[in-house]
Amino acid sequence: MLSRCKTMPGDPSWPDAATWARFNESVDGRLIRTTPIASPCHGTNYDVIKCDVIKSQWHQPTFHEEYASSIMAPVFLNKSCDPFTAVDDQCHIGAYVQYSVDVATPDHVVKTLAFAKEHNIRFVVKNTGHDYMGKSTGAGGLAVWMHHLTEREWISQYNGSGTPYNGPAVKAHAGVTGDILEGDAESREQVVVAGQCPSVGFTGGYIQGGGHSVLSSLYGMAADQVLEFEVITTDGEFVRASASENVDLFWALRGGGGGTYGIVWSVTVKTYADMPVTTVRVLYQPSSSDISALNLHWQSIATYLTESSKYLSSGAYHVVYFDNDIFHVALLFPKKTPEEVAKLTQPWFNGLQALNISPAISEIVQYPTVRKATVLVYEVFGGDILTGTDLYGARILPQRLWETEQSRSALFNTLRGIVDDGGHVLDIAVNPSKEVSGNPNNAVLPAFRSMHSMCVVLWHWNDTASWEEQFSSTNTVTTLTSRLAKIAPETGAYLNEADAFNPNWKQDYYGENYDRLLRIKDRWDPDQLLYGTTAVGGDRWVTVEGGRLCPSMKAPTPWERLGLTFM
Ligand SMILES: Cc1cc2nc3c(=O)[nH]c(=O)nc-3n(C[C@H](O)[C@H](O)[C@H](O)COP(=O)(O)OP(=O)(O)OC[C@H]3O[C@@H](n4cnc5c(N)ncnc54)[C@H](O)[C@@H]3O)c2cc1C
Repeated sequence: MLSRCKTMPGDPSWPDAATWARFNESVDGRLIRTTPIASPCHGTNYDVIKCDVIKSQWHQPTFHEEYASSIMAPVFLNKSCDPFTAVDDQCHIGAYVQYSVDVATPDHVVKTLAFAKEHNIRFVVKNTGHDYMGKSTGAGGLAVWMHHLTEREWISQYNGSGTPYNGPAVKAHAGVTGDILEGDAESREQVVVAGQCPSVGFTGGYIQGGGHSVLSSLYGMAADQVLEFEVITTDGEFVRASASENVDLFWALRGGGGGTYGIVWSVTVKTYADMPVTTVRVLYQPSSSDISALNLHWQSIATYLTESSKYLSSGAYHVVYFDNDIFHVALLFPKKTPEEVAKLTQPWFNGLQALNISPAISEIVQYPTVRKATVLVYEVFGGDILTGTDLYGARILPQRLWETEQSRSALFNTLRGIVDDGGHVLDIAVNPSKEVSGNPNNAVLPAFRSMHSMCVVLWHWNDTASWEEQFSSTNTVTTLTSRLAKIAPETGAYLNEADAFNPNWKQDYYGENYDRLLRIKDRWDPDQLLYGTTAVGGDRWVTVEGGRLCPSMKAPTPWERLGLTFM
C-alpha cells in the first residue's frame, strides 16, 4: 500500500514552475505559494513594525487562522522560522506546507487531491490550524485550505433518511467556526453543541474528533448531534455519509478524528432552543506561599473537586484552573435558576468558609443565552482563549475516582504532585453519557460516556527558550500526564486535546475503536493520502531528514513520527 517516500522540493520529480502554473489555472488561480508567517522577522525580509505585530499577535488564534499555512502549536515548527529568534537566525518553510489551495468549490479539492496523487506530494487538510497534534501541516505538503467555506443553511424541520429526527438543524460548510455558528444560532433563539473557543473550526477537526461543549452534559458530544456529512473522498468522489448512506464512513467521521477518512465538505447537526444559563465564578489565591497556606489551598481544591462532582447530573459544565498560586473556576448550569444553583453550591461555599477562604471573586449570575454565558469560560483563561502558550497533556478521569475516599485521595495527591513539579491543571468537567446523548453509535472514545472530567496538564511554553529547552519540556509533559494514566488506566484521552508525544496514543485516543477505524480508513483512503501524526494509520509513516514522510518499517517513536529531531 505504501511503497515510497513523498516527493520533496529539490527532488527531480518535484513539479516544475510550469506544472505548478498549470495546476494553479485548474484551481481558478487559487493556489498560494506559502511563506512562513514570521518571515518579516528575519533576514532580508526583516521589517521591525511587521515583526512587532507578529510577536504581539502570535498567541491569538485568529491571527494564524487567516494565514494559508500557519498553525498554532509552535512545537511543530521546530524554530524553522520563529519570530522570537534573532533577526539573522534561520527562516525557512520547515514543517509548513509549500503550497495551499484556498478552496471555494468541491472541484478545487478534487483537483488538488489528483495533483498530489499524481506527483506523490504530501496532502494536507487545513482549516483553522488549531490542531494541538500538528496534523494540519506537513513539510513538503500541498494543502487544501477550507477556511473560507463559511456557508450555513438553517433547516426548520430536518427530514433526512435513516433517522427518526425531524427537528431543527443547521448545515455548516467546512470553514464555519464555532463563533459564526453560535452567533447565527443566538439570533435565531437556538443553540448548537459547539466548542467553548470561538475560533475553533466546527466542521473540521472539532466535530470529527468528538467535540466537547458547555452543553455536553445536556445533549452529549458535538459528534452525537450529526445527521449527515457531505464528503469528498480521496478518489475525488462527492458522497453523503449518514445513517442510511455510507454508514461506515458516517460512524468513523463522528469521533474518529479529522484529516483521516475523507475531506468533509459540510456537516448537518441538530439544533436546540436557546436557554438561560446560571453561572458561578470563583477566584482565590493562597494567602502566602508558606506551607500551611498551601496546604489550606489544596484542602480547598479538594473540597471543590468533591462537591462539584455532584453538579454534573444537573446538566452542568465546569472549567477550573489551579496550581499553587491560584484557583479559578467557571461553572455553567444551563436551564437552572440562580436560586437553584445557590442551593446546589451552598455546601461548597460552606466548605470554603470553614477553611477561612475568602474568594476575591465569588458570584452567581444568570445570562439569557448560552453564548453570553460561555464568555465566562474565557475568564478562567485570563479573559481570552490564547494558543501556543502551553504544551498540553490530558487524561479523561472516570467518575469512579470520586466514589471512595481512597480513590479521591489518590487523585488529589496526583494532582498536587503534578503542580509541585511545575505543571498547571485545567479540569473540564462534563458528562456526555449515553443517556443524555440519545445512545449514539459512533466513534467517540467510549471513555467519554462515563467521564467526570478531562484533566489537562499544562506546561507553560517559553517563546524565547532554546529549542533544546522547549523540546525537553515535551518529555516533562508526557511524564507528568502518565501519572494520571496510572490512576485512570482504563480511560484514555481526547484525541484533539492531548499529548502529541504520548507513546500509547493508539490505545489512549481511540481505544477499542482503533482496528475498526483503520479498516474504514483503508476502504475510503486506499492510497493513504490522508496522514496525521496521531491519526488512525499515522504509525505507518515516519518523518526522515528534511521532514520527508516515508513508509515506516517499524513502529516509529513519537519523535520520529513528528520528525522533530530532523528539521
Ligand atoms: C484554543 C483552543 C481551544 C479549543 N477548544 C476546544 C473546545 O472547546 N472543545 C473541543 O472539543 N475542542 C477544543 N479545541 C480542540 C479543537 O477541537 C481541535 O484543535 C480541532 O482539531 C480543531 O479543528 P480545526 O478544523 O479548527 O483545526 P485544523 O488544525 O485546521 O484541523 C484539525 C484536524 O482536522 C482536519 N480537518 C480540518 N478540516 C477538515 C475537513 N473539512 N475535512 C477533514 N479533515 C479536516 C485537519 O487535517 C487536522 O487533522 C481547542 C483547541 C484550541 C487550540
